[in-house]
Amino acid sequence: MSPPPLVAYFSMEIGLNPAMPTYAGGLGLLAGDTIRSAADLKVPMVAVTLLHRKGYFTQVLDERGWQTERPVEWPIEQFCRELPGRVEVEIEGRSVQLRAWEYLVTGVGGREVPVVLLDTDLPENAAWDRTLTHYLYGGDSWYRLCQEIVLGVGGVRMLRRLGYREIPRFHMNEGHAALLGLELLSERAQRLGRKAFTDDDVQSIRRRCVFTTHTPVPAGHDKFPLETVVRALGPVDFAAHQDVFCCGGELNMTYLALNLSHYVNGVAKKHGEVSRLLLQPKDGFHHYQIDHITNGVHLATWIAPPFAELFDRQVDGWREDNASLRGALNIPKAEVWEAHLQTKTRLLREVNRRTGSDFDLETITLGFARRAAAYKRAPLLLSDAAELKRLAAGPGRLQILYAGKAHPRDDAGKRIIQQIARSRDSLRPEVRLAYLEDYDWELARLLVAGVDVWVNTPEPPLEASGTSGMKAALHGVPSLSILDGWWLEGCIEHVTGWAVGGNSPPGVTAAARDERDAASLYQKLGAVILPTFYQRRDDWLRIMCHAIALNASHFNTQRMVLEYVLKAYYE
Ligand SMILES: *Cc1c(COP(=O)(O)O)cnc(C)c1O
Repeated sequence: MSPPPLVAYFSMEIGLNPAMPTYAGGLGLLAGDTIRSAADLKVPMVAVTLLHRKGYFTQVLDERGWQTERPVEWPIEQFCRELPGRVEVEIEGRSVQLRAWEYLVTGVGGREVPVVLLDTDLPENAAWDRTLTHYLYGGDSWYRLCQEIVLGVGGVRMLRRLGYREIPRFHMNEGHAALLGLELLSERAQRLGRKAFTDDDVQSIRRRCVFTTHTPVPAGHDKFPLETVVRALGPVDFAAHQDVFCCGGELNMTYLALNLSHYVNGVAKKHGEVSRLLLQPKDGFHHYQIDHITNGVHLATWIAPPFAELFDRQVDGWREDNASLRGALNIPKAEVWEAHLQTKTRLLREVNRRTGSDFDLETITLGFARRAAAYKRAPLLLSDAAELKRLAAGPGRLQILYAGKAHPRDDAGKRIIQQIARSRDSLRPEVRLAYLEDYDWELARLLVAGVDVWVNTPEPPLEASGTSGMKAALHGVPSLSILDGWWLEGCIEHVTGWAVGGNSPPGVTAAARDERDAASLYQKLGAVILPTFYQRRDDWLRIMCHAIALNASHFNTQRMVLEYVLKAYYE
């Protein structure tokens, strides 16, 4: 039996198992990695999310590279146990019944963290209400608000129903979960025999809540018109509590979470700074302290078998103490190269099987995989086809692998995929390129371990952290990336990878910045990266070992969860 929880961790998406499509991307996989490290470290935690019976979606690309979406279903009973007990939330005056499923995450020492997955698909609910826990990020803004009621309000009620009476900390992973704060307020007011909550209740709830914000991109911050909120939740006295609801006219989930938390953080040092500027309202009334805790990845989850075998043999105790990976500098370089050739072989075999292409082991292979959103600037690397071909005519050829889904309603994102897929033919024969379908946990695992260089070119400062480059570093794969997010902390030039671009002078246009960053990317490739890979293999292996020793030893969720414990959970 686990001890009573220190923290209840709420997240709209959690990547729990590669066969469960309950995550869309980085946010959900980070949530899963957080829980896996909490289990390893025996941090008493219980997690809450939605069941997402029909998941995110499977991406299908036609010959022209146009994305369509196929729904996914998964066998819930194979992974989760149904828990007894129901709770109810009220939406639009209707009673909506919830049940819970449990998924257990087991740590290295056998400690379990239970994850509670909420489910409204019950015969006693109205047809539409039954769909509320079906689609992750599906539907419209009304659907989203109702899902957030299920997560925040329903989640707290379910925890109580399951016997979790005393929970010292509630962690809102992104603003989606912020309605949990309103439920805690009304719980307290009710217990004290009041109809409405008071300033005193707000102070008390703030002591118990923690909020992590994950992106400076506006679409990542849910906002709902007040009339819509009243329609869903019933009358709420917004005017009486400006300190809670902030910023008139709409309910902004980010501000609700900020106002109800005593500890708030961004997910990298720079993202902390950016959030302090972005989220400070100009009303002279609210003032937010925003710290940062830099993201990480759960090493044991992401490590490819050849590297797991290598580290188990060469780095004593790395699973229990991730920091001991600094000992990677002692591993014979030939063994690192041997492990790399194995992961690269596995990746390229899969690429060739899927695409009928002829990617080969000797050619340097660049990887770029992430959500297809405009600010990620995926086409930057391809902006000058002639230059790429010229590079590939140098010391050795060039192979490029792309992957990533666009949000189903993001046509601009879908056009980016199409544009990249279309350049496949024009770059041949000097440069091989493939856009791989359906980027998910399994494909990410192959890519981050098997490419030679991991590329990232976001428009700064919009990359809050990024975690795929950390997964690459674990396998000695250096990053070639814009200095933004985690890379500002992880880049040591020509030691752990390479920086692209530089500081933009104020007032520079987007087009000029793209051009400058592309030039910098080609310059690094031509002057440093290709010659080192093809002609100075010893130097290349030194860089691979430093990526592991300096970056995997630090950018992991073991270090990250310990920071949450010290700065957010016990404080
Ligand atoms: C790690 C991961 C992400 C997040 O990586 P970013 O660098 O933040 O883009 C997204 N999707 C999948 C499938 C991943 O494995």
